[in-house]
Amino acid sequence: MTKIKAVRAKVWNWIGPTVPPQKNFCTNATDLICERGDAMSSFRFHQWLTCEVETNDGAVGIGNAALAPTVVKKAIDDWYACMVIGEDPFDCAHIWEKMYRRSHAWGRKGVGMTAISAIDIAIWDLMGKLVGKPVFKLLGGRTKDRIPVYYSKLYSGPIDAMQTEAEAAMAAGYQAFKSRFGFGPRDGMAGMRENLKRVEAVREVIGYDRDLMLEAYMGWNLDYTRRMIPKLEKYEPRWLEEPVIADDLDGYAELNRGPIPIAGGEHEFSLLGCSQLLRSKAVSVLQYDTNRVGGITAAQKINAVAEAHQIPVVPHAGQMHNYHLTMASLNCPISEYFPVFDVEVGNELFYYIFEGDPEADGGWLQLDDSLPGLGIEISDRHLDKFEIFE
Ligand SMILES: [Mg+2]
Repeated sequence: MTKIKAVRAKVWNWIGPTVPPQKNFCTNATDLICERGDAMSSFRFHQWLTCEVETNDGAVGIGNAALAPTVVKKAIDDWYACMVIGEDPFDCAHIWEKMYRRSHAWGRKGVGMTAISAIDIAIWDLMGKLVGKPVFKLLGGRTKDRIPVYYSKLYSGPIDAMQTEAEAAMAAGYQAFKSRFGFGPRDGMAGMRENLKRVEAVREVIGYDRDLMLEAYMGWNLDYTRRMIPKLEKYEPRWLEEPVIADDLDGYAELNRGPIPIAGGEHEFSLLGCSQLLRSKAVSVLQYDTNRVGGITAAQKINAVAEAHQIPVVPHAGQMHNYHLTMASLNCPISEYFPVFDVEVGNELFYYIFEGDPEADGGWLQLDDSLPGLGIEISDRHLDKFEIFE
């Protein structure tokens, strides 16, 4: 019988060049506190975690996560690895429940669930490799010929630079775009006008036949969002993303009764957490990230629940674990896509760690029917730009 013999968590600390971000490039949850020093630091992350699960016959599955990698590594090493070793990877639902229930007192959200996610993704990659099928084929197969993606960047900055970026993305064939707000409650009415000018400027470039998503990354509060929504309505956003902090479920539900669909969920965890969002009608678009929410085992269940609520799922982050789930569900209409770019915020790091992530072509991407597992391997091309903690 195939048995798991090792679980290896590694932290990849980027020491290569970074593009210094500009001031007010994206609002974030720390904007509302009195920060001394770099107020944008909680938004940037230059570390990633890989989790390899190896069987007694030498097959290796790879998962990854990006939240608090050094702490997640510790949770895997000290807590979860021993629960997984000796198990048959095809008992993934049992392994998941074991990890979830044995760490329930502290692990059901945040670091614990992120560690569970990384291990679970590795186990699904492993199952695909062991049966010689891509993961999406194990989840139900193709529901689309290819996956439409939206261009996710357009950080708040000088208006002409944002317009130039939008023009280039449009020329590359994208039909949907997400831009970030740079100003929030402490910037007052003047900041509101700065935000609106940038939305208008992007609309000016992309017109009204293409989708525009707007992202606040928890950097607003309820009062500010209530005041912004009427001003944003005329720009016809497809959604407004994470206007308030993830815990403000009632705030989400109130805003989601308004004229602009509210998107969120990238900071929610587990089937029951996402189910609560859906039952509360807190979001019109659910955006779990497989590498936070509980891995593919949990995400597959969440997809089914969201489908029953008729709420589309558009996972956070353009990464393979999310693409495979999106390919296999009709209820996942589009994927987020981070364009390949020099390392700035940190969203781009996985391109430097893995080989095999698909690049968008004309606003679409494709998964390979013949590549077993998730279709990515750890790369050795950029090893000189990382410190690796094993
Ligand atoms: Mg987001």
